[in-house]
Amino acid sequence: RTVYVNGEYLPEEDAKISIFDRGFLMADAVYEVTSVLDGKLIDFEGHAVRLKRSLDELDMAEPCSKDELLEIHRKLVEENGIVEGLVYLQVTRGSDGDRDFVFPSDDTPPSIVLFTQNKPGLADSPAAKKGAKIISIEDIRWGRRDIKTVQLLYPSMGKMMAKKAGCDDAWLVEDGHVTEGTSNNAYFVKDGVIVTRPLSNDILHGITRKAVLRMAAEAQLKIEERLFTIEEAQGADEAFTTSASAFVMPVVEIDGVALGDGTPGPIATRLREIYLDESLKAAI
Ligand code: PLP
Repeated sequence: RTVYVNGEYLPEEDAKISIFDRGFLMADAVYEVTSVLDGKLIDFEGHAVRLKRSLDELDMAEPCSKDELLEIHRKLVEENGIVEGLVYLQVTRGSDGDRDFVFPSDDTPPSIVLFTQNKPGLADSPAAKKGAKIISIEDIRWGRRDIKTVQLLYPSMGKMMAKKAGCDDAWLVEDGHVTEGTSNNAYFVKDGVIVTRPLSNDILHGITRKAVLRMAAEAQLKIEERLFTIEEAQGADEAFTTSASAFVMPVVEIDGVALGDGTPGPIATRLREIYLDESLKAAI
């Protein structure tokens, strides 16, 4: 597999990053994951805009222009023959060759790394046909979840807790209300109304969330952006999550309580179809 590191395309075994890189030492880094369907990038523009916002919020320099970023994405997809899969992008604050809590000087270049992951069957996913079983866990992450940093230890632990419980994923709960999933935004549907938490620093501003809410509104579905509890979601007709890498994922069980008849609900299923269809048409 060919990867991209700081201006160079290299075989993955030749790629090198300093052990002093702040991404490695301090999780001082942001990332994006862009899906590839039919060899094309899904919502590249949305990811590029959010990356810029994450960098700005952390006073981190842009490693290259948006056009260069697009070119790197496309070249890796082509070189690695990705038809269905992902492009992972990470930008770190780099390093001045030492470990220090204080940021290095402004002229320290950021590090940028991109690689692809081949995922045949990403769109026609068996997991989406089955639907996800969710556990709830306390949200103990930091207070700037709107910035897409690589501080993913707690979300990883959440996935492991779900796996141990025989489930697929975890929803995070803070002050009695669901914030989001470990790596996705969370929704339930009751009496035809889609409910999801409003945007704030408490959750990641999902690219897929934005697109799916727009498509839901265009399909005349009602949307309420408000706080909700696990109990309310358990009493829903259906539920789902959204993310760039799993699109719209139906949820069929929350903390052992089956939703509806325990199979993917009609609105989640329809939104997945609409999202895949429209995103693919707009892919570049
Ligand atoms: N929330 C969290 C915590 C995430 O990690 C992600 C995706 O990685 C999302 C939500 C969904 O965001 P997007 O739709 O942009 O992938």
